[in-house]
Amino acid sequence: MKLTELFTQPDPDFGKAMTALLEHFHHSDDSQAPYQRGSFTHQLDQSCMPAIGISPRDYLARLTTLVPGASHLTSPRYMGHMTAPLPAFTAELSRLLVMLNQNPMKMESSRLLSFLEREVLAKLHRLVYREDDAFYAAHMHAKDAALGVMTSGGTIANVTALWLARNRACGDNLFALAGQGYRGAVILGSRLMHYSFDKGMDLLGLGARSVWRLDTDEHNRLSLAALEQALQQCREQKLKVLALVGVAGSTDFGSVDPLPELAAIARREQIHFHVDAAWGGPTLFSPRYQGLLTGIEHADTVTLDGHKQLLVPLGTGMLLCRQPDLMMTVKREAPYAIRATSFDQGRFTLEGTRPANALYLDAAFQMLGQQGYAQLIDANYDRARRMAALIDASPAFELMSAPVMNLLSYRCIPSHLQGQEPDVATNEEINLFNVALQKAQRAEGHSFVSRTQRAVSRYGEQPLTLLRAVLLNPLIEEADIRALLDDQVRLGSQIASQLFE
Ligand SMILES: *Cc1c(COP(=O)(O)O)cnc(C)c1O
Repeated sequence: MKLTELFTQPDPDFGKAMTALLEHFHHSDDSQAPYQRGSFTHQLDQSCMPAIGISPRDYLARLTTLVPGASHLTSPRYMGHMTAPLPAFTAELSRLLVMLNQNPMKMESSRLLSFLEREVLAKLHRLVYREDDAFYAAHMHAKDAALGVMTSGGTIANVTALWLARNRACGDNLFALAGQGYRGAVILGSRLMHYSFDKGMDLLGLGARSVWRLDTDEHNRLSLAALEQALQQCREQKLKVLALVGVAGSTDFGSVDPLPELAAIARREQIHFHVDAAWGGPTLFSPRYQGLLTGIEHADTVTLDGHKQLLVPLGTGMLLCRQPDLMMTVKREAPYAIRATSFDQGRFTLEGTRPANALYLDAAFQMLGQQGYAQLIDANYDRARRMAALIDASPAFELMSAPVMNLLSYRCIPSHLQGQEPDVATNEEINLFNVALQKAQRAEGHSFVSRTQRAVSRYGEQPLTLLRAVLLNPLIEEADIRALLDDQVRLGSQIASQLFE
């Protein structure tokens, strides 16, 4: 085959085989391929590249060995992570987007799609900040303005927020803080803050010790008393607070920090207020649940993830800025590509070349509409409440936090410990039991939840192993939830007999 044919002659059989692979994958579960690192590394142990390429048809043979080893994230019994099944139109849309291969970092390489980013960002800005038509008409496409930036995910959005907050406080020169009488700089947030904030402060040269993770209350919300105390400490130690972080949908519990109070404190102290709504942001679509996010409209910056509850492919995150000129504090230019006089988004994005994933958001906005998102959110949040009720009603389980959004944390209690008040030693036993249970369920591959380790106020500071369910898949039915819990009870009794006898 001539190499140029690879570019000009699509193989129709290849496309059909791809569809068949996907169909087959969607109708199976993780039990097909055992979760064993040893077998994965054994299967993929070739470090030499082939000297001569094979045909797409021959490559299919390799694909059929790789695909069944992937995670069945779209199975309605897979409730463990924040990855969703995608609307079916995504398959064709992604073909279009990938083959257009646009780069919205600069206008020259994306033309109209660069402005599509701005339009998509304006729609989400409006969802969060509710400015009027005149505001969006003035700023949406203005040259030295940005209502936000697209990122590859929530992590880069959070890091970008810290970058903005740092430059707002002292430009790109941390030593300028010394000139203002400070001896260091920190950010403040709850102990449930995402670990991307540690990465961001590390990159800014401030290190993990500059991330102050403060206590939470019994509802897993940042404690205002702890915050006031930390602010006092910062004043005494002459530490500049670069940002106050509010979490709107914590990764473990879906809890929301007291945003109106945090906004008021940030305003009083003149601190950059960032809200991490990577998970919880789309709650705003739901008239029933949007009250959970009251106060988010006061945030200077807000992180959203498209690839979580907005149901678009991975690699789609955003940082929104309340004020359109904030982004100018991190403006950078490059003579060969990103000119000072240009409209290029690349002037502010941390990332350079990026895919034009705004098209996925545009398609979902147009085809689902606000109402479609509201229905999906309501159904998922209701499902979490139903699952919580099932857990609460069974002595085999202990619900570890009341559902706020659609994340649940709970644990399984072995039968000989049911109906007791666990002490520290008993909790240790229950921890071991839940680790073994989660691994056994994962290995069996019929249903799945993830696990985390957190203290919950009921048991003081002791770290507890928690099972974590994410109710994101719109196809989850009550029968799936019951089946998942039944699997845990069945596996639990096997594990208890191994562990405790
Ligand atoms: C998922 C998540 C992040 C990180 O987002 P990525 O897209 O995984 O980089 C940050 N914060 C919260 C609250 C999240 O749920």
